[in-house]
Amino acid sequence: MDKIPYQAIDTTEGNNHNPSQLFIGQHSAPETYAIEYIQKKLCPHNGCLVCTTCRNIHDKQHHAMRWFFPEKAYTRDELAPLFQTLSFALDADELFFIVIEKADYLTAACANSLLKSIEEPPAGYHFLLLTDRPDQILPTIRSRCTTFTVQSTHIQSSTDPLFHLFTTSTPSDPSLFLKMLDKEKPTEQRSIALLDKLLAHWITSYKNALAAGDVDMQNNSQRVLNVLAPAIKHPPMPGSSKIMWKNLFLQIKK
Ligand SMILES: [Zn+2]
Repeated sequence: MDKIPYQAIDTTEGNNHNPSQLFIGQHSAPETYAIEYIQKKLCPHNGCLVCTTCRNIHDKQHHAMRWFFPEKAYTRDELAPLFQTLSFALDADELFFIVIEKADYLTAACANSLLKSIEEPPAGYHFLLLTDRPDQILPTIRSRCTTFTVQSTHIQSSTDPLFHLFTTSTPSDPSLFLKMLDKEKPTEQRSIALLDKLLAHWITSYKNALAAGDVDMQNNSQRVLNVLAPAIKHPPMPGSSKIMWKNLFLQIKK
């Protein structure tokens, strides 16, 4: 389970155990958790993160899932494909996940049209509703879901020692870095998330340097981005995170 950086705590009010689930959490936590949840259910290797199934789910392209994201408030038209999907009976062992992101954007009319399906989904169908604004969820929806609060099990990226190390320009002692790696034991999942955060950091740094006319800073940001790009294109396979970080250290902190 250590590859999942989030944990979900059952915070359902009362004593209901409805099949549909409402994931509550800050920022992208419910989204990330929903992806991991579906990967664990559909991946033949228990959510390996690297197989085609896992990658398609990550890209929200898997055939056994349908992901809804509202422009503003949900409209009946936007949800029409959902009811089409539900009208197809699944095979006995088939699973299908319907994710409703920003469930707090469901209008009363949309919510009403969904209530029956959410309360008693057709066999094999699973509803995952996501929100970062639980106080805005309609009570009719909330009372029909098992509610989970999603929290990070890792420290925030800003205080992540690896993030800190790769965003400061000071050189570091390789032996101290190896000790840090042994202590942190970054999983593939955490490594991929960290790579994304590092990329965002260095792109911002590059833009800032460009705007400020700081050529040295610009060159340094470009250099780090050139190292990060291939790592993001070829994320670590299970068990290879440590080697990836060692290589990044050698290239970035030299
Ligand atoms: Zn997989």
